[in-house]
Amino acid sequence: MLNIWCIAEHRKGKLGRISFELLQKAKQLAEKTDVNLTSVVIGCNLTNDVLKKLFSYGAHKVIYLEGKGLNDFSAEKYSECLAGIIKQRGPDIILAGSTTMGRTLMPYLAVKLETGLTADCTLLDYDGTNLIQIRPALSGNLMAVIKTPNHRPQMATLRPGIVSNLEKSTASDGELEKLDAAINLKNRINKIEHKEADGKFNITEAQTVVAVGKGIKSPKNLDLICDLAETIGAALGASRDVVDRGWLDYSRQIGLSGHIITPKLYIGIGVSGAIQHTAGMQDAKQIIAINKDPKARIFEFADFGLVGDFLEVVPALIKKLDCKNLVL
Ligand code: FAD
Repeated sequence: MLNIWCIAEHRKGKLGRISFELLQKAKQLAEKTDVNLTSVVIGCNLTNDVLKKLFSYGAHKVIYLEGKGLNDFSAEKYSECLAGIIKQRGPDIILAGSTTMGRTLMPYLAVKLETGLTADCTLLDYDGTNLIQIRPALSGNLMAVIKTPNHRPQMATLRPGIVSNLEKSTASDGELEKLDAAINLKNRINKIEHKEADGKFNITEAQTVVAVGKGIKSPKNLDLICDLAETIGAALGASRDVVDRGWLDYSRQIGLSGHIITPKLYIGIGVSGAIQHTAGMQDAKQIIAINKDPKARIFEFADFGLVGDFLEVVPALIKKLDCKNLVL
């Protein structure tokens, strides 16, 4: 029996989608071997209703480590209480999201547990002994296959957004173990103020995304793109070139070094479709591209392509769109 622990995330009393994505990815290993899935939640004052949601997405067990001040993520505190229970119980595999929290927490934890860590996996497999951790390397030009043969537990972070359809499991209940996570760590870090970077949406959770590339020429043209996004209720995304120019912030970057998204609809405007960008959006259900160059690579991925200057195409689209008839 392979014991897999998935580190859940929550904010403002709600579980993040990554908590369920991890379970779904881990569940796929059950095709190769018997798997026991545990979700681990660290926090304070989370309700049973919230915690029990994890059973509906495949967790057999939920371990809730509760302690004062643990609602806000702290790498030192979270890794301290996790390392203790992991050493005690010895799970085979630990998975977390390649989110801000996962990327910060897991290296701390790997050091405490003296084991390896593969960051940013997009695929997982199992060879009967080892977890096969697969991730893009060399700007996405090859997939690196990584094992941790000599150390345990095996640890990996998984890109958020790699599961396009979250499937509920038939079970809706399981074992909920609550543990007191009172830890005696000196507060070396105090939260003084928390400023949301751009907190109105999370690009990985948006069902419709309008993404802009350098082809929009100037940030002044974002107003026009925002009109389109508003018309269809879309979140605004961007290529890295747009983010590097400071036209939009990193929370909106789509691609290899940005966010992986799997929305129902992606509309790329003035985006060339470089491999590092398409790595982040190619699994969208429907892809529409607007580009003045008919040979742009983005058209290889598009279900619908509009060749033309976005300054003409986008206003015409906004005019034509009857939102009432759109099913997104
Ligand atoms: P361009 O490639 O310059 O494309 C602009 C497009 O706009 C062109 O196709 C052009 O025909 C079109 N256009 C111009 N004018 C108009 C007009 N008036 N109307 C319509 N279309 C027009 N990129 C990402 O996006 N995300 C990543 O996460 C990412 N990670 C990277 C990681 C590494 C290690 C490296 C090396 C690169 C990464 N990149 C990433 C950068 C990537 O290689 C490309 O440089 C980038 O995606 C190009 O952005 P773009 O499509 O906005 O710009």
